[in-house]
Amino acid sequence: MEISELYGCKTFSSSVMRSRLPSSVYKSLKATSRLGKPLDPGIADVVATAMKDWAIDQGATHFTHWFQPLNSMVAGKHDAFLNFTDASGTKVVSEFSASALVRGESDASSFPSGGLRATFEARGYTAWDPTSPVFVRDGTLYIPTAYCSYTGEALDGKTPLLRAMQALSPQALRILRCLGYTGSQVVSPTVGAEQEYFLIDRSLYEKRLDLKLCGCTLMGAKPPKGQELDDHYCGRIRLRVGEFMRDLDRELWSLGIPSKTKHNEVAPAQHELAPIFETVNIATDNNMLTMETLRVVAKRHGLACLLHEKPFDGVNGSGKHNNFSISTDDGINFLSPGPHPEKNFLFLLTMCALIECVDRYADLLRMSAAIPGNDARLGGGEAPPAIISIFLGEQLCNLFTSIAEGVTPVIGEMEDVHTDVHILPNLHKDDSDRNRTSPFAFTGNKFEFRMLGSSQPIAFCNVILTTGVTDIFARFADRLESCGDLAKEVCQIVSETIRGHGRILYNGNNYTQEWVAEAQKRGLPILNSSLDALDSMIDGKNVKLFESWGVLSETECQARYEISLENFVKVISIQAQTMLHMTQRQIFPAATAYAAQVAREFGALEQVGVFNKSLKSHLVKVNGLVEEIGEATAALLEGCEAHKMPQELPQQARYIQNTVRPLMHRLRQICDSLEVIMPETGWPIPTYTDLLYRI
Ligand code: ADP
Ligand code: MG
Repeated sequence: MEISELYGCKTFSSSVMRSRLPSSVYKSLKATSRLGKPLDPGIADVVATAMKDWAIDQGATHFTHWFQPLNSMVAGKHDAFLNFTDASGTKVVSEFSASALVRGESDASSFPSGGLRATFEARGYTAWDPTSPVFVRDGTLYIPTAYCSYTGEALDGKTPLLRAMQALSPQALRILRCLGYTGSQVVSPTVGAEQEYFLIDRSLYEKRLDLKLCGCTLMGAKPPKGQELDDHYCGRIRLRVGEFMRDLDRELWSLGIPSKTKHNEVAPAQHELAPIFETVNIATDNNMLTMETLRVVAKRHGLACLLHEKPFDGVNGSGKHNNFSISTDDGINFLSPGPHPEKNFLFLLTMCALIECVDRYADLLRMSAAIPGNDARLGGGEAPPAIISIFLGEQLCNLFTSIAEGVTPVIGEMEDVHTDVHILPNLHKDDSDRNRTSPFAFTGNKFEFRMLGSSQPIAFCNVILTTGVTDIFARFADRLESCGDLAKEVCQIVSETIRGHGRILYNGNNYTQEWVAEAQKRGLPILNSSLDALDSMIDGKNVKLFESWGVLSETECQARYEISLENFVKVISIQAQTMLHMTQRQIFPAATAYAAQVAREFGALEQVGVFNKSLKSHLVKVNGLVEEIGEATAALLEGCEAHKMPQELPQQARYIQNTVRPLMHRLRQICDSLEVIMPETGWPIPTYTDLLYRI
């Protein structure tokens, strides 16, 4: 099938809607999906029937309300399109009612709620998000939904995002109107999420409990060759990987996900995929679906896709870049500088709003990337440090400082790049060079937030950006609506923003120690560990922001904080238990068996009168490490014992961070030292070299 035919063929797309719905219903539904108009309840029945008929044509027998609970996964219960026509149950028909489309009710007691709901009050509701297309997969019609408790509190990633989008649009429209734009009806954030991942052979994956249970390795010596030669980045895509990617793209396209670029990433076995950007709630749904599809297609190809942030210690980890901008329904990009950024008031104001937003809510943005897996990545010289700052590039920085200082900005003409080879064309230069080390970089017509871990949903960082900008836009709009001189007011806003929030701007290398010292001097928050960052969720100013725009209530913020803490504790506890399993049941027995074998060999040689000095010292070394493993295992076991664990969640998390994590680290180091001196055949689990190079 050709790409244009394939694209979206498994979705209830605009063209399917147009052909299957009465024109008035189609128009009404489009107004909801495109302009965010409330759904007309009168059309739901017709839509449900058309959707069901189309889904059945696609081979569906079931439907599911598909949602994103706060465990960072996707979930749904599958119901058949089946009902009896009469009480005696003799005749069966396929049925899908409006109420089944619009609302779902399920027992929510097994999803994290952070205390929002006691187990005995188990009801949770799902509500259809008509702005995100439904799709058919594996015989089921998937209906993207938002998920809330019996009392209406958000229990998912999507609800606050929809609330934030709803808050942004009117405030952004006020700005547009003040600046004379009259054509736009709705304003939405747009997002493109670049997704990194690892691919390894599935048979090797199956042999490692840590990969299967935790998604990452918990031990493993560094291979002799890692990424030192930069030979993987954008290198030739291996045949097997190429076939996987082809299959993946086709699957994504059929689901209406505009997968666009693919390449090999820095580490061996690491790859990346980026879609074309979309409205933020659709981009969020599509990223969840992309992660799921990556795993499924990998399995089909005898591969395992690792979405963990740090699957291999000492090797580059995986992140997710959240490209963010704001656009109108008629195609105006708020962050497009145009040929004269100095006169582009919409651009200047939006940049100011984002500068202020990122400075004010830096702690929250850091929090949005705070998961245990990201701890080993941020600040490790492979991803931004745990300090939020903004890269604007020299040109734009100069522009803003000039306006702030009341000096007429000089915008240098962008020269071409000359290669000095006649047959090559001159190349048009971009407005700024790239800065790969910045956590929040302006990249031409969007900002790229680079802190997220590869396994994370993108919803929450976009909730922060959208709500923060809404709050600041509202203030800007108040000023613009009542000012006499628009140009002067914009200048004033730029000047105040740079004076008040200029400390967040940094164009240098974010990986250096100098930057850490400088950031400290500037008073920027430095939240090194995930755990340190979680408190931002319940910080007064942050709760106030969310509350004042109806995005999250104080109770909902508290719940999210508790869920994050709980997740932190659970994830690391599972890792510790897995590590104990592996050392006690695999590493220790293998090592003692090997030590005994060396002892036998040594004895046999001695019997024939040969004293082998190096064999003896090897034996002593192996035995020493076996002893150390025994001790470190016992220490970790004791550290994990229930009675040692503090009762309260925050203290529990601290204990895990300060006691359990170091004990795990110690045990790992010893296992890794042993691995490199054990024979390949005696080592009970696949090594890093196997995992990274055998594909
Ligand atoms: P880079 O190479 O700098 O990372 P790309 O052109 O590859 O940039 O874009 C990265 C991502 O940014 C893609 O998903 C792209 O669709 C997205 N993107 C481009 N423009 C916008 C925009 N206006 N809003 C949101 N995302 C955007
Ligand atoms: Mg990028």
